[in-house]
Amino acid sequence: VVWFRRDLRLDDNPAWADAVAGGGEVVALFVVDPVLFDRAAPLRRAQLVAELAALDDDLRHRTGGRLHVRHGDPRHVVPAVAAEAGAGAVVAWNADVGPYATRRDRAVAAGLELPPRTWYGSLVHRPGAVLTGKGTLSRVFTAFHRVWLRTPWDPWPDGPAAGATEGPRVAGDPGQGLPEAGANPPQRAGAAAALARLDAFLPHLDRYPDDRDRPDLDATSGLSVDLKLGTLSPRAVVRAVEGAPGAEPFVRQLAWRDWYAHLLAERPDLPTTAMQARFDAIAWRDDPDAVQAWREGRTGVPIVDAGMRQLAATGRLHGRVRMLCASFLVKNLLVDWRVGERHLRHLLLDGDLAQNVGNWQWVAGTGPDAAPYDRIFNPVLQARRHDPDGTYVRTWVPELAELAAPGVHAPWELGPLELAAAGVVLGDTYPAPLVDLGESRARALAAYRAAPKLPG
Ligand SMILES: Cc1cc2nc3c(=O)[nH]c(=O)nc-3n(C[C@H](O)[C@H](O)[C@H](O)COP(=O)(O)OP(=O)(O)OC[C@H]3O[C@@H](n4cnc5c(N)ncnc54)[C@H](O)[C@@H]3O)c2cc1C
Repeated sequence: VVWFRRDLRLDDNPAWADAVAGGGEVVALFVVDPVLFDRAAPLRRAQLVAELAALDDDLRHRTGGRLHVRHGDPRHVVPAVAAEAGAGAVVAWNADVGPYATRRDRAVAAGLELPPRTWYGSLVHRPGAVLTGKGTLSRVFTAFHRVWLRTPWDPWPDGPAAGATEGPRVAGDPGQGLPEAGANPPQRAGAAAALARLDAFLPHLDRYPDDRDRPDLDATSGLSVDLKLGTLSPRAVVRAVEGAPGAEPFVRQLAWRDWYAHLLAERPDLPTTAMQARFDAIAWRDDPDAVQAWREGRTGVPIVDAGMRQLAATGRLHGRVRMLCASFLVKNLLVDWRVGERHLRHLLLDGDLAQNVGNWQWVAGTGPDAAPYDRIFNPVLQARRHDPDGTYVRTWVPELAELAAPGVHAPWELGPLELAAAGVVLGDTYPAPLVDLGESRARALAAYRAAPKLPG
């Protein structure tokens, strides 16, 4: 039994290759777990269902078998499917690092007749493979990255031996079938479409170092959804770009991805606890109206509002703008980073516990190797640097469509005539800023400084 989870592909998938190498009949299982499925926003659910349909298609075309879909609690369903497959059935899967997944997998393993075979097909390196000379996971990214680069990849199985006359034998029972998608998937589904997206990005890789922070350009790979759902293997991405101009800073991002996953594997409390424990003493503000305005893109700070509206409408959000939206919530509104983390994780198409928590803690300055808390982004200066013509802001904040850059990034700095000529009335057609950026910055610094230093 191969239990697919967030590794929805047949190539470059160690659990799948391992299972089919034996030559026996394989059940390709996916369990729709309501705990995870019901919590995802509609667009992410739609993408997942489309990916499952595409995996089913791939199985049909390549093996004649079907994806066997069951609904329920995997702790009961997986052992039941293994038992139905017959005595001596072995279950293989690609492991995950989140606390829920880890607990669930332990419970599933305990219910199986034989120990499962597990791999880490969603990461370049498995947790525990990238350690310092002292045998620990580095809390400093640059040190982790140095070791990550020189650590040889654990071998993954190749699947059926070369020259095998028959493909894998896959069971043909579709089980309970796929859940209702409820919406159209935001991007073309399937491993072939993911590879096509990777191929389409390669000619632009050389511009990545210069343009990746520009939300007004289409300059990043857009592969995070494929990496999250596993329609693409991270190793395939590294192999595809190796040696090309622009590859180094791009591959470095995949090392961040591994690092956050390794950290969560080691510290399952990270979604709820500041890695630098003293910052859990910060007196966060309880301000539901401000949080609601942030969620709906009504803060009066155009780059933040543009980002939050793009997120709500599409489930996507450019990486630089994620930082600015997160920083505004945590530093300027002084709202607990966990509030924002939950919101983004629910809506993002690439929403991923390890990546989201790691990045939120980085922005909040509470995590490992975080930005020092006193380096607070100024969203206006950032917007002027990274969205120089204001194109991104005007796309998502149409109330400001008649304003040019640099004014569009801080309409409160403009005179009444200029605003009137663009049809903007602050506080009416577009909100006045929720907070003064300078004052709220000072308030954040004071709150962070007041957090007591803890012994040790
Ligand atoms: C507050 C906040 C929350 C985030 N939440 C998530 C999340 O839930 N899921 C997620 O996949 N990414 C998250 N990120 C990281 C990053 O913003 C996205 O991975 C990236 O924007 C996706 O776009 P891309 O595929 O075009 O990235 P590219 O720039 O093309 O990068 C290539 C790949 O590298 C990885 N990567 C890039 N940046 C980062 C990073 N900062 N940390 C870890 N991996 C990275 C991603 O897998 C990405 O697909 C978050 C960042 C911030 C600041």
